[in-house]
Amino acid sequence: MNKINLLSKKIISQIAAGEVIERPVSVVKELVENSIDAGAKNISVIVKEAGLKEIKVIDDGLGIGGEDLKMCYKSHTTSKIFKEEDLNRISSLGFRGEALSSIALVSGLQIKSKLKNGAKGFEVKISKGRMLDFSQVGMPAGTQIMVESLFKDTPARRKFLKSSRTEFNHILVLLNRLALAFPQIGFALRNNKKEIFSVPAGQTISKRMRFLLKEKIHKRLIPLKVKSNYALIEGFVGMPQIAFSNKSKQYLFVNGRLINNPSIARTIKEAYGSLISNNLKPTFLLALKVMPETVDVNIHPRKEEVKFLYHEAIIGLINKKVKQVLRNKNLFYKFESGEDDFKKESEFFREDFDFWRVKEEEEVCDSEIIQIKNKYLAVPSKKGFLVIDQHAAHERILFDELKRNFAKRKNKKEKVLFKRALTFELPITEANFLEQNLKVFEALGFEIELFGQGTFKVNAVPKIFHCRRIEELITELNQLMIKQKKVDLDWRNRKILNFLACKNAIKTGEKLKPKERRRLIKKLFKTRKKFTCPHGRPVIVEFSEQELDKLFKRR
Ligand code: ADP
Ligand code: MG
Repeated sequence: MNKINLLSKKIISQIAAGEVIERPVSVVKELVENSIDAGAKNISVIVKEAGLKEIKVIDDGLGIGGEDLKMCYKSHTTSKIFKEEDLNRISSLGFRGEALSSIALVSGLQIKSKLKNGAKGFEVKISKGRMLDFSQVGMPAGTQIMVESLFKDTPARRKFLKSSRTEFNHILVLLNRLALAFPQIGFALRNNKKEIFSVPAGQTISKRMRFLLKEKIHKRLIPLKVKSNYALIEGFVGMPQIAFSNKSKQYLFVNGRLINNPSIARTIKEAYGSLISNNLKPTFLLALKVMPETVDVNIHPRKEEVKFLYHEAIIGLINKKVKQVLRNKNLFYKFESGEDDFKKESEFFREDFDFWRVKEEEEVCDSEIIQIKNKYLAVPSKKGFLVIDQHAAHERILFDELKRNFAKRKNKKEKVLFKRALTFELPITEANFLEQNLKVFEALGFEIELFGQGTFKVNAVPKIFHCRRIEELITELNQLMIKQKKVDLDWRNRKILNFLACKNAIKTGEKLKPKERRRLIKKLFKTRKKFTCPHGRPVIVEFSEQELDKLFKRR
């Protein structure tokens, strides 16, 4: 690597200013980017208490020489740019010489480094931006940076941080993204001594995606490659089945840099047209290579956004290519199938447990209940007739039942133990969250255990969920909790039970047998709050004889 130099005032004034270090993940991002810039093959990130106590980043890159070590933590010192013109053709991730100095100001910083061919390593200790100690150390080639007690002396900033779980989740999401951008580099992440994930150096993108995103997503990715005068675009777009309600499966890299670009996301979404519903976001992983002169990376303080010189051309190219690969895949005719998971699960569900099929005494006779549009049930009542929303009714029944069962946590007997446990995989980022939330699932009556990085085993489920798509249920509930971040009991009672009731309820559009109609109505009338569903929508509307008479002008 070049020698480190202090940037001129002129260059400094042209650099996008702003808060660089906002939270632990910003430190991790800057340090790992430095390791990547230094050509590291392996990068380990070790954090304690989600990085608030300690962040260590260890690499086997080019290293920093002794003299440079005394420079690197000072403001505006960098080995990546020298002249003003360099700002217009940046090929490294870093370029402002601001990261180490910003970190040094809000933490205790220790940097150890040994040049690739250096005889010895050196260590520098910095506190509040000042050098405390400089010494020689024995170490392998590469750089090891330790950041301690982040924001200890800046309580105002610390106050803005979220729970350590949230802060850690940001770190995990970031490393997952970097690992997908650089499959040739090995990454490892540890939190409080626990290995969260590790991927070896030298992987193909396909292998890496399979490990980090798991098979369900991996096998539904369509490759794409296109080149124009302005850009080389390579990567994958997801089949419509792997569209999600959030942007978490949208990965965009420009010359190796992770970026957000709403217009690219929009043009991809547009290319899917009616293949996915409006509120869902398609999965994509795209790497763009453009000439450094044609992209401005100096527009955002944390380097998360870029500006393309040939913006319109690039957007047009992506849109056209995505449309083309989707068309060639012939997805338009079969994208809604997705039955395979269900078939696999149904092997485990031989007995018929759906509670509303349980035999009950008859009151109204079957022939008196009419199903309208597979949506409503009409049934005679004392005063006239009732119209019942079948989905809302079942939702209410399930909600009350779940609440009763789970409040008491007495569901030992009511669990269904699988003869053969069901295993499923989750993308590493979601897996970590589920692992932390297994207790919540346990309280709900699920028996789930971790089975390896990203793989889970379901040994038992509450009886009420039997015959349902268990994997989908757990995945979606987990995603719901990720969105919610903090899961307290109160929230759990309301949201989770609502969600579970809704997921398991008879759907609008389901044809019910006459017996099933009757049982649904009977169950409904036994629940206390039968007139509204858990979301507050009406369940039953009564049409009285008088009203009917009025309509027919009998009075
Ligand atoms: P920038 O990355 O913008 O140059 P930083 O403050 O992040 O600024 O780093 C300052 C300098 O320290 C870098 O330009 C580089 O020369 C050196 N450096 C930092 N981290 C590493 C590393 N892991 N390996 C080698 N050199 C590093
Ligand atoms: Mg840097």
